[in-house]
Amino acid sequence: MINQIKQKKIFLETYGCQMNEYDSQLVRAILKKENYEFVTDERKADIIMLNTCSVREHAHRKVYGRVHHIRHARGKDSVMIGILGCMATNLRKDLLEDRSLKIDFIAGPDSYKHLPQLIHEASDEDRKSYDVTLSEFETYSDIYPSRTEDGVNAWIAVMRGCNNFCTFCVVPYTRGRERSRSPKNVVDEARRLAVEGFKQITLLGQNVNSYRYDNYDFAYLMDEVSKIDGIKRIRFTSPHPKDFPDRFLDLMAANPKICKHIHLPLQAGNNRILDMMNRTYTSEDFVNLVDKIRTKIPNVALTTDIIVGFPTETDGEFEDTIQVVAQAAFDSAFTFKYSQRQGTIASKEYPDDVSEAIKTERIMCLNEIQKNITLKKNQAHIGQVFDILIEPIFQEKPSINSVGRTDGNKLVILSQNGYKIGDMIKTIITGATPHALKGDPSIS
Ligand code: SAM
Ligand code: SF4
Repeated sequence: MINQIKQKKIFLETYGCQMNEYDSQLVRAILKKENYEFVTDERKADIIMLNTCSVREHAHRKVYGRVHHIRHARGKDSVMIGILGCMATNLRKDLLEDRSLKIDFIAGPDSYKHLPQLIHEASDEDRKSYDVTLSEFETYSDIYPSRTEDGVNAWIAVMRGCNNFCTFCVVPYTRGRERSRSPKNVVDEARRLAVEGFKQITLLGQNVNSYRYDNYDFAYLMDEVSKIDGIKRIRFTSPHPKDFPDRFLDLMAANPKICKHIHLPLQAGNNRILDMMNRTYTSEDFVNLVDKIRTKIPNVALTTDIIVGFPTETDGEFEDTIQVVAQAAFDSAFTFKYSQRQGTIASKEYPDDVSEAIKTERIMCLNEIQKNITLKKNQAHIGQVFDILIEPIFQEKPSINSVGRTDGNKLVILSQNGYKIGDMIKTIITGATPHALKGDPSIS
C-alpha cells in the first residue's frame, strides 16, 4: 500500500510568516526522503497541502476560501487535501467535521515527521487522519530543510513556540512552548548554507532574543554564526523588547557582520493597553530602550509591529501610540487591525468592541504618519554611501535594474543592471521614496 502512495505529486502552498516558510522547507525535506515529488503546477498534484496561518482572521478566511476553490476545481475525489500549521492545531475539529471542505489529513507544527504516515492513513477511502499534538521538545534539528530560496538569504529557525502569552496572540496555543536548538546544530546548518553559496543568514524565532540552550544565549549564538567564512551578513527576527541585555547590543555594535537593524514590535503606545496585552513593558520602557539602542548603535534601523483597535482602546489611547511612533521614529512599521482569535486570553476576557470603521480610521491615520516618517528617514540617506548586498530581481518586474539591500534592510534600486547576486557593492544613494532608495554604484 505504501508503495502505491509513494511517487505521488504534492503541491505545497504556504501562508503567513517566515516561520511557516521554513516549516514548509522541513515538510519538503521529510516527504522528499519518502520519494514524494513536489510540483509547481497544482493541476498536476495528487495531494495539495496548505501550510496555514491563524494569526489574523484574514489569513484564516483565505484558507477556507482556497479549500472550497480546490474542491470546486478538482471535485471530491481526484485530489487529497492536507492542512498543516497553525490552523491545524486550533481548528482540527471544525476542519474535519465540515463535510463541504473534505479535508483528508491535518498535521500541526510539531507533527511533520508523521506526515508520511498521515498521508498513508488518509489515502484509505473515507478515512481522515490527524496529528496536532504539540511537543515540548521537537525542534526538527535532525532535518535539513529542502530550500526553495535562490541566491542570497537563508532562514534558520533557532527556536520554536512562545511562552509570552500576549493576550491577543494565538501563537502560544498553535505552536506550543518555547524551545531552542543547540548552538552547534544551528552553526552546522549555517556552515552548510555558506558552502551552498548563501551570503546572508536570518535567525528566526517567535521571540528570538530569548533563545536559550543550557548556558548559551542569543548573543553567543549570533557571535558563533558570524564566525563562519562566506557569510557576509546576519539578521534576526522577531525579538521581544523585554530581552535586550547590554551584552547583546554591545555585540551588535561591535560585530560588522551583524546587520544594524532591529525589528522591535511596539504593539501599542498606551500603558493601560500594553498591560491588557500582557506585553510586560510600558511605553516609557520602550522609548528608553529605543534611546539606549540608538546610543549604542547610532546608525541602527528600527522597524516595528503595531496593532490598532485592541478592545476598549479609546481615541486618546490611540493618540498615545501616535506619540510613541513619533518619538521612536521607526524606519517602517507593519500595522494591523486587532483581530479576535479563538482561544486567546483577549477573546475570553475582552469583547472586540472597537468598531471596524474606527479600526480602519486609526490604521489609515497611523499609516499616513508612518509613511511621512519613513520618507524623511529615507531622504536623509541621500548622498550617503552604503554597502549593498545584491539580491535576485523581483520576478514580477523582470526588466527592473539590479536591486539590493542596505545593512538596515532598506531596498535599493540601482541605476544599472547586471550586478552579480550575492556581491556587496558600494553605492551612493541618489533618491528616496517611502518604499525604496535609489542608488548609483558608479559615483560612490
Ligand atoms: N513574535 C513576534 C512578536 O512578538 O512581535 C511576532 C508574532 S506575530 C506572528 C506578528 C505580528 O502579528 C505581531 O507582532 C502583532 O503585531 C500581529 N498580531 C498578532 N496577533 C494579532 C491579532 N490577534 N490581531 C492583529 N494583529 C496581531
Ligand atoms: Fe505572539 Fe507575543 Fe509570542 Fe509574539 S511574543 S508570538 S506576539 S505571544
